[in-house]
Amino acid sequence: MDTKVIRMDEQHIDRELLQEAGAVIRAGGLVAFPTETVYGLGGDALNPDASRKIYAAKGRPSDNPLIVHIADRETLEPIVKEIPEAAVRLAEAFWPGPLTMILNKSETVPYETTGGLDTVAVRMPVHKVAREFIRAAGGYVAAPSANRSGRPSPTVAKYVAEDLGGRIEMIIDGGDVEIGLESTIVDLTAAEPMILRPGYITKEMLEDILPRVEEDRTLMRADSGQAPKAPGMKYRHYAPKGDLSIITGTEDEVVAYINSQADRQRGMGKKTGVIGTDETIGRYHADVCKSAGVREDECTIARELYRILREFDDESVEIIYSEAFDASGIGQAIMNRLLKAAGHKVVEAGEGQI
Ligand code: AMP
Ligand code: MG
Repeated sequence: MDTKVIRMDEQHIDRELLQEAGAVIRAGGLVAFPTETVYGLGGDALNPDASRKIYAAKGRPSDNPLIVHIADRETLEPIVKEIPEAAVRLAEAFWPGPLTMILNKSETVPYETTGGLDTVAVRMPVHKVAREFIRAAGGYVAAPSANRSGRPSPTVAKYVAEDLGGRIEMIIDGGDVEIGLESTIVDLTAAEPMILRPGYITKEMLEDILPRVEEDRTLMRADSGQAPKAPGMKYRHYAPKGDLSIITGTEDEVVAYINSQADRQRGMGKKTGVIGTDETIGRYHADVCKSAGVREDECTIARELYRILREFDDESVEIIYSEAFDASGIGQAIMNRLLKAAGHKVVEAGEGQI
């Protein structure tokens, strides 16, 4: 299949082209499109065949449900059984935006879209191209991240084309995304609202709106002995091809440990890489040293993380060391993704280990 690429950013919406993209969805085809979080791989959420095609194009396990993207508040009712008060309040505060809510699904939503569950994940993105595209597509676009399963989510269209070119009808190239990590997922079907995946909307932000928000205990740990409540969170994700580990400790300890390990690996003929920050990157001497952003402003790190993981692949880096980040605010989402990318391989750089 030839994949048509069209270019359109939020300042230059082309309604005719979006009608063309929408027609692809209405005919049961697939279109990748930009959102504020990462690029999505869209298909008609109410068409079981389209959902099957999404799983096939991504190589995604079919028990990993899709998020249904809507553009207008009125379109929520038909796809859910009821809208709890908490959902009304969160929608008022954070929609459109990077928040996904899990609600009980209505019969309109096929089980192919929800991975066999009686609940459905719904999000209303704020990105203007995404919203106009969803409307043109009929209002309900199921869209996981537009990567092959297991790879880092794409934050630029180039990586969508690399993973899905030839497998889908169309890619809308909207340039760089703004946030760079997937949406926060909150389950509103249990007794207490619960975060199933951390993201840009933090627990603190949610608790400004709702009295109490719990967190899935598996979010930051490999050894909790429980399955994550979001089926997708159990799979190894976001992984670069190289062997990635996260190094914790004071700045001096981390720098010394990484430099000594990188030297040792290089001595064995391996190509080495480092994920540091603007504050530290000049101190490393691995083969490929990349700054993820500025520690002072962790949003910069969220935006760059997936692109950097992909660039290590482009440059065939075999061993990658990353600094750890503060697991508060958006930092929790960064660490959650980084831990998954590293298969939870964390090394404490104490003095004794150098
Ligand atoms: P992605 O679309 O790649 O960002 O992945 C969507 C995430 O949402 C996966 O981790 C899914 O397991 C999760 N998800 C989607 N629908 C549900 C649902 N009904 N219940 C729990 N988790 C869900
Ligand atoms: Mg994904």
